[in-house]
Amino acid sequence: MLILVAQKYFAELHTIKYITMQSLRFKAIDNLTSAKDDIKVDSPSKVTTIFGENVFSLKIAREHLSDDAFKSLTSSIKTGQKIDRNIANHIAAGMRHWAQGKGVTHYTHWFQPLTGTSAEKHDSFFTLKTDGSAIEEFDGNALSQQEPDASSFPSGGIRATFEARGYTAWDPTSPAFIMNIGNGLTLCIPTIFVSYTGECLDYKAPLLKSIEALNKAAVEVCHYFDKNVSKVTATLGWEQEYFVVDEGLANARPDLLMTGRTVFGHSPAKGQQLEDHYFGAIPERIYTFMRDFENESYKLGIPLRTRHNEVAPAQFECAPIYEELNLAVDHNTLLMDVMTRVAKRHKLHVLLHEKPFAGINGSGKHNNWSMATDTGVNLLAPGKTPKTNLMFLAFFVNTIKAVHDNADLLRAAIASAGNDHRLGANEAPPAIISAYIGGYLTKVLDAVEKRVGDKFDEQDEVMLKLDIHKNIPELLLDNTDRNRTSPFAFTGNKFEFRAVGSSANCGYNMTVLNTIMAETLSSFKTEVDALIEKGDKKEVAIMQILKNYIKASKKVLFEGDGYSEEWQEEAARRGLPNLKTTPLALDSLVSDKAKILFEKHKVLSHVELEARHEIELEKYLKHVQIEGRVIGDLAGNHILPSAIRYQNVLIQNIKGLKDVGMEPTSYKAQFDILSEISEHINKVKTLVGEMTEARKSANTLISSRDKAIAYCDKVKPYFDQIRYSVDKLELLVDDSEWELPKYREILFLR
Ligand code: ADP
Ligand code: MG
Repeated sequence: MLILVAQKYFAELHTIKYITMQSLRFKAIDNLTSAKDDIKVDSPSKVTTIFGENVFSLKIAREHLSDDAFKSLTSSIKTGQKIDRNIANHIAAGMRHWAQGKGVTHYTHWFQPLTGTSAEKHDSFFTLKTDGSAIEEFDGNALSQQEPDASSFPSGGIRATFEARGYTAWDPTSPAFIMNIGNGLTLCIPTIFVSYTGECLDYKAPLLKSIEALNKAAVEVCHYFDKNVSKVTATLGWEQEYFVVDEGLANARPDLLMTGRTVFGHSPAKGQQLEDHYFGAIPERIYTFMRDFENESYKLGIPLRTRHNEVAPAQFECAPIYEELNLAVDHNTLLMDVMTRVAKRHKLHVLLHEKPFAGINGSGKHNNWSMATDTGVNLLAPGKTPKTNLMFLAFFVNTIKAVHDNADLLRAAIASAGNDHRLGANEAPPAIISAYIGGYLTKVLDAVEKRVGDKFDEQDEVMLKLDIHKNIPELLLDNTDRNRTSPFAFTGNKFEFRAVGSSANCGYNMTVLNTIMAETLSSFKTEVDALIEKGDKKEVAIMQILKNYIKASKKVLFEGDGYSEEWQEEAARRGLPNLKTTPLALDSLVSDKAKILFEKHKVLSHVELEARHEIELEKYLKHVQIEGRVIGDLAGNHILPSAIRYQNVLIQNIKGLKDVGMEPTSYKAQFDILSEISEHINKVKTLVGEMTEARKSANTLISSRDKAIAYCDKVKPYFDQIRYSVDKLELLVDDSEWELPKYREILFLR
């Protein structure tokens, strides 16, 4: 009797379960097969007809502003000079006029707080006058400054010690734009975000300061070669990798929604081993989505140029034509937002996480960086004449020296919980910062190192025949001389910082790069000047210091396979830092060296560095904490119930076979599966319990650094162990019982 009741109970439970819980996965698959992407994307026959149509560019400004207002705006963009309130009123009126002509009703200050995403607070142009009459208004005050509630953004303790409020301030160097969300149009004003006492609370403010620091130092060095240079601008062309998956399937994966990555999931039978995705045609549904977000991006003035499949299934990449750095960073932040929004229209879900799926490649962001003069010279492009080549060599060697001297700061600048999954795995540049320059330039540097100021021996004579000046331009033509495993690679006329995470805001890592470059260039100038003062010819002095720099920074150059085990060993022998985890990599942010450096160049104060350190640690530990919770929840609410239900099926089966008199050998398979499942169920349960205890004890620690280290060393190791058993269960349990969409479905169904 009891058995009968129990059987009936299990049978009912089974049906109820099937209808409610499981349906999300199977509903998503059903929807997928029946869904047609009925979104029509009208692409213009020429991109130029829509490019920048939603941007208050200088051309548009010219049409809408008085001579005075326009002149003031352009000179502020050029020199950073402040715009006075009266003129700001005129500019605001011009902007409103333009925006209203396009149907815009609201405006917002658009900024990039340290959360990593962009933030907005919309206000209406509509307002009431004191007499109650309704008008549309947007004045210089509203354009120049706003007070969003700073308390909801990370400040790393600055708020506690200083002022509770923060404000946003207009950055005229990045043009205002109109964002089209749903059917509402909003005028967005790019701004910096600072505390009331002036501390930076965002990515843009220090970036702008670092751009200025680099400009100053680089112009001085340029004057050795060309007195006409009056401005040097940093340039950036980012390559953005991302995954796109079906929205229904993503919605059935709480881990993807909550953490951006899958915490469980057995590798599909087919992964990326066939390497067929990279060369394959872009799937139609994705292609429609791409055209749609590209069009939106063009309207916003984002000059997207390339799109293609990436190595992993469901992984893609897009890249724009490079731009002035500040604008490029804004455009990348904007693009990530636009992609995410446009995907929703197509019932797709964009994953910007560095490692959404175990076992296949993760995503990065390659930051192509260089410097350009206002005389039109790319300072990292080898020149055609001996004079310009020496200038190239100076900037090139200074960059290597900067990377050598500050590898720890660059490492800290790319540290995040997500990027820890990539750096150090065999798919992305390692956590060791090194630079790749290619065979030819290696020879050139060797020649310089051995040549200047020394007596020549026979071998040096051979080196001399290399003739730096004549041969460098050939490198430009050589696209095959590439190393894809280096975190910082010279690619002909720019350096490509390849270790940046796909979800990162480019602002901070570029701030660091600019600042260390500014520092190196200013030391270079001091040292060269000292030799010139002693009577050296300018060229000889430059070559002498370059030679010293090459010698001093040689150990950061590496031409081999950055993914290999040998490099890890070799780098250790060279004494290069190899910090694999974020909590420790972040230490250099608050080193004495960092404090002196960033303060000297007026980029970040001690207080701001301490605050950033705190924020990054908090971000890290919160990410790991959330992942831990999600793992616990999913294991408890989804994985174990499925496994137990299937256990019951097996038990019924075995009992039934026994009842009808079968020999134990005939249900041996069922029995083995049952005990394997039981073993993994126990493991999952025990490990989740232990992980929860580890979390609790990490939470008792006071300092964020201690906490972050505890999360890293004591909590995170459970993730893989739990996953191992869960992924085994995925293979053992009846497919129709499994609630979470599987890798093969998320990655290959579209
Ligand atoms: P590659 O094949 O070398 O990666 P691409 O032409 O695809 O070359 O360039 C990658 C990115 O580098 C693009 O965004 C491109 O605009 C950018 N880029 C090219 N020149 C520069 C430069 N001088 N400064 C910054 N970025 C650059
Ligand atoms: Mg590239």
